[in-house]
Amino acid sequence: MPHPMNHFPILDGFTPLEPLPRLAEHLGMKSLWIKRDDLTGLMFGGNKLRKLEYLIGDALSKGCDLVITGGSPQSNHARLTAAVANKAGMETWLCFAGRHMGMRQGNLLLNHIMGATMFTTGVYGSNNLYQAMKEKAAEAEKEGKKPYTIPVGGSTPIGDYGYLRAWKELEEQREMKQIPPFDEIYVAAGSGGTIAGLLAGIHLYPQKTNLMGISVWESKETLYQEIQDFTSQLLSWLGHDQAVSMDALQLFDQFIGKKYGVPSEAGNEAIRLLARLEGIMVDPVYTGKALSGLIDRARKGLLKDKHVLFWHTGGTPAVFTHASSLSQDEA
Ligand SMILES: *Cc1c(COP(=O)(O)O)cnc(C)c1O
Repeated sequence: MPHPMNHFPILDGFTPLEPLPRLAEHLGMKSLWIKRDDLTGLMFGGNKLRKLEYLIGDALSKGCDLVITGGSPQSNHARLTAAVANKAGMETWLCFAGRHMGMRQGNLLLNHIMGATMFTTGVYGSNNLYQAMKEKAAEAEKEGKKPYTIPVGGSTPIGDYGYLRAWKELEEQREMKQIPPFDEIYVAAGSGGTIAGLLAGIHLYPQKTNLMGISVWESKETLYQEIQDFTSQLLSWLGHDQAVSMDALQLFDQFIGKKYGVPSEAGNEAIRLLARLEGIMVDPVYTGKALSGLIDRARKGLLKDKHVLFWHTGGTPAVFTHASSLSQDEA
C-alpha cells in the first residue's frame, strides 16, 4: 500500500484497549471492551487527532502557515485542529455555523485559551460552511498567508486514512493481547469519515466484524451514501479500484434524540452508567448517544453471546456545556 509520506505525529503508540467487566455484567453481556480514542494525547484528545496527523502533515508539506476549518461552535474537530496547528507552529481560523457562538465554555473556552481566531458565518450545513471557509481562505491569501482548508469533521481521504491506520492498530493490538476478533464494534457517526476509514481497513485487512454506526446527526440513508463515497474515495486514492463492500456496516439513526447537539435521556443515562461502573466519561453529543445504542441492543438481549467493542471517539470537553441537563436527578 502506498503510504502517505506526510505525517505529523501526535499519538505515541496505541491507545488503550481495555475490558469493561462491570458494565458487561450489568448488561448481561459475555464480553465488552473499549478502545480509548478519547486518550489520543493532545488537548483532551478525541478521534479527530488521528485524522489531523495526516491533514496537518499534508499542510506542512505544502508550506502552509494557516489552517482554516469549522463546524458547530462546540466542534471537537475545531478544538483539536487548533491544538495540532499550535503544535505545528501554524495559525488557526475557525468558521462556526450560525450567528452566535454561545457560552465561552467547553471547546469554545479551549479555543479561546489556545488563541484561535474565531468567526461566525451565519450559515449552516457542511457544504455552506466549506464555502465560507473558502472565502476566508481567499481573504487570507490577499494578506499574504498560505491557508490550508479542512472540511467539517476532517473527512477527506487524507483525514480518513488515519482511521484505516486505526483499524490496523486494533488488529495488531488484538493479536498481541490474544483477544479474538470482535463480533460488533460500536462507533458514533457524525460526518462519517471515521467509519469510512474503518470500513476501508476492513476491506484491506478483512475480518469477520460488523461495524455498528450510531448516527448523532443524519438519517441512516444519507449517512450510508456519505460513508460509501468517503470509503471509495479513500480506497481509490490509495490505488485500490475495486468496488467497496458495505456488508460489514449497519447504521442506526434512532438514538439521535431530539436533534444533533441536544442531549437525549438515554444518552445521559449511558453517561452516568459508564461513569458509575467503570470511571470513564463519555459525552452527551456523540459518545453517550453511541453508547446508548449499544445499551439498548444489550437490553433487548441481542448482545448476550457477542464479543463487543465500544470505540470511544472522545468529545468529553462538551460535558461542561451541558451541566444543567447532566446535573438533573435521574428519573
Ligand atoms: C467528530 C466526532 C465523531 C464522529 O466522527 P466522524 O468522522 O465525523 O463521523 C464521533 N465522536 C466524537 C467525539 C467526535 O468529535
